[in-house]
Amino acid sequence: MTDISVVVPLFNEEESLPELTAWIDNVITKEKLSYEVILVDDGSSDNSWEVIKKLRVDKPQVKGIRFRRNYGKSAALYSGFRAAKGNVVITMDADLQDSPEEIPELFKMIAVDKFDMVSGWKKKRYDSFIKNKTSKFYNATARVVSGIKLHDFNCGLKAYQKKVVKSIEVYGEMHRYIPILAKNAGFKKIGEKVVLHQARKYGKTKFGLERFINGFLDLLSITFISKFGKKPMHFFGLMGTLMFFIGLVAAAIVGINKLVLIAREVAAPRVTESPYFYLALTAMIIGTQLFMTGFIAELVSRSSAERNAYQIEEEAFD
Ligand code: UDP
Ligand code: MG
Repeated sequence: MTDISVVVPLFNEEESLPELTAWIDNVITKEKLSYEVILVDDGSSDNSWEVIKKLRVDKPQVKGIRFRRNYGKSAALYSGFRAAKGNVVITMDADLQDSPEEIPELFKMIAVDKFDMVSGWKKKRYDSFIKNKTSKFYNATARVVSGIKLHDFNCGLKAYQKKVVKSIEVYGEMHRYIPILAKNAGFKKIGEKVVLHQARKYGKTKFGLERFINGFLDLLSITFISKFGKKPMHFFGLMGTLMFFIGLVAAAIVGINKLVLIAREVAAPRVTESPYFYLALTAMIIGTQLFMTGFIAELVSRSSAERNAYQIEEEAFD
């Protein structure tokens, strides 16, 4: 039985790897725990893979997975999670911004305090000013939307029960919102630990400005999917009905107005001269389209292979 699997996604981090693996080894051996460290090379173009193979020679605990091309951090984490054998799985970035010294305490929170997952909180961060500010905003939004009280959703340093990583699927760029994925999979005991953070020692960050817009869009999709993924009509149907109702009211205003004027024998203007006419027209068209989208989304979700994939905690049978 392996106690800890350390999963490290990496992309062009050749300089940090020897220092990182030595440090992890040092910390965990001191605790007298068994471990493996899974280095997932996300299609690096530098010598990261050669470095990994060299590290393996001295330390059998070092394991490696190499992607043929760069798929992104989420894909790397996903593959590391599939391969992990430890009872506690800990993820950390390869760039030495996260400190291996946090491992024993994180391990304890999972193994002894029985948290499903513990997320690091870089309370004092060493990143750019813009990143620190926008990250505060994202975390606040994610807190409201998901109802999970975490300060730092996207911290690279996290710890999990083995069953958690085996039952969530990190895809796209969802590594930013793994706590939400875990919660959606039914894991409620999510904790937080303040962790040390350092400035990047070697190389440079792999995420540019596009992270801000992508992070926002992903938050929208994950919220939508977790709320309405299995019943899209409940969303589109509501919006469609609302729109259609607005259209109906506007049409009634136009029609009744015209009839009243005619009854009073006043010269009535054309209905097309009323702004309500255009409101009625657009609202009804949009309403119908929302309904159509709802039906199509419903068909899509019904034919999904995962429509009946549930997380079963335990079974009691004869
Ligand atoms: N990373 C990866 N694939 C990518 C981009 C990044 O595996 O396509 C790894 C990277 O090597 C590092 C971690 O993800 O170990 C975090 O990346 P980075 O330090 O660039 O992000 P930041 O700390 O600036 O948020
Ligand atoms: Mg980093």
